[in-house]
Amino acid sequence: MPYIESHDYFFFERNLIKCLSGKENIIMRVLVIEDDKIIGDGIVQGLGLEDYAVDWVEDVESAETALDTNEYGLIVLDIGLPDGSGFQVLKNLRSAGKDIPVLMLTAYDDLSFKVKGLDSGADDYLIKPFKLEELLARLRALRRRAGGRATPILDVDGVTLDPATKKVAKDGEGVSIGPKEFAILQILMENKGKVLTKAQIEDRLYGWDMEIESNTVEVHIHGLRKKLGKDFIETLRHVGYRVGSE
Ligand code: CA
Repeated sequence: MPYIESHDYFFFERNLIKCLSGKENIIMRVLVIEDDKIIGDGIVQGLGLEDYAVDWVEDVESAETALDTNEYGLIVLDIGLPDGSGFQVLKNLRSAGKDIPVLMLTAYDDLSFKVKGLDSGADDYLIKPFKLEELLARLRALRRRAGGRATPILDVDGVTLDPATKKVAKDGEGVSIGPKEFAILQILMENKGKVLTKAQIEDRLYGWDMEIESNTVEVHIHGLRKKLGKDFIETLRHVGYRVGSE
């Protein structure tokens, strides 16, 4: 059953440049739960263009494992999965108290499914076949909304980070920060006083399929120290990194 029709692929290619120019300046980890290979592959490629780090799973069991193991900023969730229903994943997620924005996908153009999805705690809904551009626009909107309701501005030792506007300042002066630096700084500041290992920081940055360069974290920590002061981020040899005290 081909959900994405061939003209959607041409549409997709024509819009590569558009997608690239519209990308936002921060890496976010997304979980895609979709058993249709063609659609899953299309979504993963599209999200990759917008600087998302993407994990793709194809059934309920793998989705539950992924959600237990990793921290996601967004979820794209298909309803019909080989070993169960997307509603089940959504229900478990919400009853675990996780308010990660969820966009549901379905092949059924049926109002009752839409209502059920939204009632179960989905944040948005898209019926197949859909244009990739629309999916990306809806995800951007979810991110903005999540940013709005997310944590207030983080503040550690005179450095402030606003998760909603993606702005960083030191002693009130704006500091220009790259997307990976921002992601690293955010996880450190969210865990103020705690030591995070390099692996925990890498986990925030990458999807399972992305190649991790061994010194990426060190390079960005170095960059952050240059901008925020060399003592702002503490290195605990053989353990990890920390900002602030508990
Ligand atoms: Ca399906």
